[in-house]
Amino acid sequence: KAAVMDGVNVDQEPSTDSIEKTMAKSAFEKLQEDRKTLPMYPYKDDLLQAINDHQVLVIVGETGSGKTTQIPQYLHEAGYTKRGKIGCTQPRRVAAMSVAARVSQEMGVKLGHEVGYSIRFEDCTSEKTILKYMTDGMLLREFLGEPDLASYSVIMVDEAHERTLSTDILFGLVKDISRFRPDLKLLISSATLDAEKFSDYFDCAPIFKIPGRRFPVEIHYTKAPEADYLDAAVVTALQIHVTQPPGDGDILIFLTGQEEIETAEEIIKHRIKGLGTKIAELIICPIYANLPTELQAKIFEPTPEGARKVVLATNIAETSLTIDGIKYVIDPGFSKMKSYNPRTGMESLLVAPISKASANQRAGRSGRTGPGKCFRLYTAYNYMNDLEDNTVPEIQRTNLANVVLSLKSLGIHDLLNFDFMDPPPAEALLKALELLFALSALNKLGELTKVGRRMAEFPLDPMLSKMIVASDKYKCSDEIISIAAMLSVGNSIFYRPKDKQVHADNARMNFHVGNVGDHIALLKVYSSWRETNFSTQWCYENYIQVRSMKRARDIRDQLEGLLERVEIELTSNDNDYEAIKKAITSGFFPHSAKLQKNGSYRTIKHPQTVNVHPSSGLAQVLPRWVVYHELVLTTKEYMRQVTELKPDWLVEIAPHYYQLKDVEDSSSKKMPRGTGRAS
Ligand code: ADP
Ligand code: MG
Repeated sequence: KAAVMDGVNVDQEPSTDSIEKTMAKSAFEKLQEDRKTLPMYPYKDDLLQAINDHQVLVIVGETGSGKTTQIPQYLHEAGYTKRGKIGCTQPRRVAAMSVAARVSQEMGVKLGHEVGYSIRFEDCTSEKTILKYMTDGMLLREFLGEPDLASYSVIMVDEAHERTLSTDILFGLVKDISRFRPDLKLLISSATLDAEKFSDYFDCAPIFKIPGRRFPVEIHYTKAPEADYLDAAVVTALQIHVTQPPGDGDILIFLTGQEEIETAEEIIKHRIKGLGTKIAELIICPIYANLPTELQAKIFEPTPEGARKVVLATNIAETSLTIDGIKYVIDPGFSKMKSYNPRTGMESLLVAPISKASANQRAGRSGRTGPGKCFRLYTAYNYMNDLEDNTVPEIQRTNLANVVLSLKSLGIHDLLNFDFMDPPPAEALLKALELLFALSALNKLGELTKVGRRMAEFPLDPMLSKMIVASDKYKCSDEIISIAAMLSVGNSIFYRPKDKQVHADNARMNFHVGNVGDHIALLKVYSSWRETNFSTQWCYENYIQVRSMKRARDIRDQLEGLLERVEIELTSNDNDYEAIKKAITSGFFPHSAKLQKNGSYRTIKHPQTVNVHPSSGLAQVLPRWVVYHELVLTTKEYMRQVTELKPDWLVEIAPHYYQLKDVEDSSSKKMPRGTGRAS
């Protein structure tokens, strides 16, 4: 331990400065030692040799072996960064941020300097950055500005097995540029063993396998299906906690999203209280995509002696993040998935059973540092017979409008012949083209229009981008970018503490006075906050999450910058709500629905039954015609973020999409007339 004490004179009162330096040094040294214990480390030289010998290399290694954090550093040490940056893509933003933070510590540099990350609406890089972690979607956007990725010497498409939409599109693009940039190294890394597919696709690229270290994992199934998996997961976790000595390992529970994780956290806290004071401390660590950065680091903090950690995670902990010390995995067998119906063009988020491959990845998380246990909250029969072998690649179950717009802006017109690893259904491609045509982003020949070119500048879904571009016409770009920013933050604006629900609901309904609809309510929240000069106190008083608001402000600032780029003036029409709603409708007219006698709605173009989400300000109002932001499928198909619409706007705004007969009020006799009946 002498080295640690170097530079500190123990006899004298050491200055704080030197203590800090010494501590920093010892932590730094510890990190360097840890790096050498990773499964990846013994293969460092072989790997560098293989990368030297081949332009494209497929790398396979178990989660936690050090692929993401180590390979870019090895390449840097070997001099690759002299020729350009090393880019490493991640399907998830949290992973990009957290891994970049870790690597900057390991390299002893400030995050955002030599090591940085770039995710949508957040660029934490600088001129100095040589190791750049980013979401796959961000690299896709970089192609728009730098089609040959000239500033990169290596691109590592990491977590390739996740097969996200952006990763799949990247495959085609990087394969293409590797042909005319022989100096560019391409690494495709994956945590699963089906690497042949990647190798085949990249013209038989060699596969570099890193032998894993995995301890045996005992799998337990339930005898009968669980009616309430959330409750079952909590009960299982508490049972483990109470019956097993605390020092023997932490617990990881896979849940489907933020809301579920927050509910689980509350239930656990509540039940722990009921267990008395003799129980060891249980530290609850949530992790999901929108978790504020400051709280993300908590999952990696070592568990204090005598305590146990329970990590409540989404899919993100399946392969993207490795948490050391997990001994017990609880797997309810579900995840949130996007599903898309190419016939109707409707996309919806739903909770669906995971695949066998996912279940096995999840189980594997318990056997990294010693023998583990996985509790599957479903039956062995379910596992054998009901779960699919693999998750269907996202490209085959999603709306493609966004990538089609990106590819068109890259000058790639012949989408049917794009080099897809697994092609999307032709119907889905067609639907995307149709939608972009309806939004006037493409002309009849499928070429990008001026509107489309402007839309492509925004890192948003085409309907949101269109809403912004259309706000120019209605002179309300100022209001519309606030709305777009608030929508982009997600559903974490309002909070509702259990003991103050009535107050919270009242505060919330204040923004809905006049039944202005959810979009305008979001605008009012933003404007009111701005009027208070972004006051935190005001957020507390109104049960609004200040963090989410700050994020909205960041996003809004960026959208404002982009407005300038596409030469749209920032104009406010002083809350002329009709103009604002028309701009919204210009982007979202394909999402319009009409009230039915039973209180549900029918979507207009491709009739489907939908409902107003209970959290909507219009849930009790039920206007005759509405336009909605998105669909979520829980017990029913729900429209989230709903605004009233006049049916004649549809014909006025999208005459190529709606005809008069679509918006005629045939059922008007039995119902009171809506405010906006076309005459
Ligand atoms: P792989 O990409 O092969 O799954 P990683 O490079 O992500 O592996 O992880 C290697 C090691 O680094 C793991 O032991 C993990 O615990 C650690 N690690 C990764 N990210 C962080 C982080 N943000 N904080 C602390 N440790 C981390
Ligand atoms: Mg990784």
